[in-house]
Amino acid sequence: MSIAVIIVAGGRGTRVGSPLPKQLIEVGGQTMLRRSVLACDAHPALAELVVVLPAELLADGAALVGPTSHPCRLVAGGMRRQDSVRAGFEVLSAEVSLVLVHDAARPFVRAEVFDRVIEAARRVGAAVPGVPVTDTVKRTRGAGSARAVVETVSRDGLWLAQTPQGFTRDVLARALAAGAGMTEATDEARLVEQAGGQVAMVEGDSGNVKLTTSEDIAQARRVATAAAIRVGTGYDLHQLVAKRPLVLAGVAVPCELGPLGHSDGDVVCHALTDALLGAAGQGDIGRHFSNTDPRWKDAPGLDLLSRALSLVREHGWTVVNVDVTVVLERPKLAPHVPAIRAALAAALDLSIDAVSVKGKTNEGVDAVGRGEAIASHAVVLLMGERS
Ligand code: MG
Repeated sequence: MSIAVIIVAGGRGTRVGSPLPKQLIEVGGQTMLRRSVLACDAHPALAELVVVLPAELLADGAALVGPTSHPCRLVAGGMRRQDSVRAGFEVLSAEVSLVLVHDAARPFVRAEVFDRVIEAARRVGAAVPGVPVTDTVKRTRGAGSARAVVETVSRDGLWLAQTPQGFTRDVLARALAAGAGMTEATDEARLVEQAGGQVAMVEGDSGNVKLTTSEDIAQARRVATAAAIRVGTGYDLHQLVAKRPLVLAGVAVPCELGPLGHSDGDVVCHALTDALLGAAGQGDIGRHFSNTDPRWKDAPGLDLLSRALSLVREHGWTVVNVDVTVVLERPKLAPHVPAIRAALAAALDLSIDAVSVKGKTNEGVDAVGRGEAIASHAVVLLMGERS
């Protein structure tokens, strides 16, 4: 038994006030359509995908839908929703016995919802995910300033239907045949209901929202962006000894002492490298640039920082800003801060205002305060296109 999903992306977006069809609006770096396709493609139970597009987008369909790991067919939609679903249904492989229908405008659907729909559709023949109505529901009449409440409707048994909706192949075939002669149905379950068939209601997900209005999309973008922010911290300390140069972000700072270490002891770069790796969930400086590896003996800190930046970028992240504190008893850091900031801005490809460097002393307390060591703290903010 094979399961297919028909992704309905036939809308022309007139309700969101955008010249683009709604499904092609980007939310957190990916179009709604692409997000929905990826959500379906990632589910292990789904063997094939069909995407129903407006006829005028079909020529660019492959680029709009993007690569998938499962077979994916593209078809042109029809006038009404049931016509679009029918067009998708007609190109399903013969071995498909269970069909899900999903709205491209619900890009945040989660695997558990698919699981529940598939289980119930197998058992009952048709299944819909939904959430119970929690707001008080009023029926009104009139419009504008004349709109008035007629009654409060009982919420008892009221659910808001979502997608994916699931059907055995023959149940959906009969429903679509019945739907051919009907007015537009806003979902497929209604076609089954009207034909007297049973439809199970399973638990949906309040996050599985349908992005219909420009407010929905603005809210979804906030959610997607928040999900794509990472923060990391780093710390480094080196003992200060005679006859070693003091280098901070590649900038030579005149000092009678310098850091002892396998590398150049550039505490600014080392703390920042750890913060970058930490924010991206990629371990730490010791894992990537071990102090027992001869390759990193006397390695410039800026070099390690650049390598960490490349790694973080390979994982889909962009640095937003960095903030560094250097704790050093003497000399005073202030005269060198502009050069250190400029060096970091260049190394990280950031504007100068996204790079902060602050110097502090340790007030004569502990090893750093006695001038026996130098320490640095760093915080990094990353932004990516994940959710
Ligand atoms: Mg170090």
